[in-house]
Amino acid sequence: SRAEVEALLRGRIRDVPDHPEPGIVFKDITPLLADPEAFTALTDALAAFSIEHGATKVVGLEARGFILAAPVAVRAGLGFVPVRKAGKLPGATLAQAYELEYGSAEMEIHAEDLSGSDRVLVIDDVLATGGTAEAALRLIRRSGAQVAGLAVLMELGFLPGRARVLPALDGAPYQALLTV
Ligand code: AMP
Repeated sequence: SRAEVEALLRGRIRDVPDHPEPGIVFKDITPLLADPEAFTALTDALAAFSIEHGATKVVGLEARGFILAAPVAVRAGLGFVPVRKAGKLPGATLAQAYELEYGSAEMEIHAEDLSGSDRVLVIDDVLATGGTAEAALRLIRRSGAQVAGLAVLMELGFLPGRARVLPALDGAPYQALLTV
């Protein structure tokens, strides 16, 4: 059941206080990845969401989003497209800058990997401020593809990430499997 899957996933995420800096509680998904039952349950839940919303491609956000999105793409029979930190992709890219707590960063996508007929589901592990996911959604819209939705394993509900991504979703569905 949905409740059993949630409990399984929740029990495999480790809180690491003060990582990578004081005051941050890092949500470590490596125990979940190391447990085949939990990793499979997560993959199945995200694959079901992608199929339900008619996705044709799955975008994973560097780096932990890659680990989650790639098996979802295979399970759902969809293509996988990486959104990477600037300077990593070798081909012609679209780039999107976004604000961090201190300073800014930039992410890129290979424009030719998406077409106007694609419906793209964006996947990441944690939604915190929402800045990363918002920038990825903008990249997809700028590519000319449609946004099928955004799915994350865990939303940090004490941050305004959801409110930040909703305008970029523009009515497309959002799912957080867990909220803390
Ligand atoms: P944000 O752009 O603030 O929503 O941050 C989301 C990105 O940072 C995701 O790619 C997460 O992997 C990572 N992240 C942010 N906060 C945490 C946290 N507390 N634990 C684990 N990862 C986090």
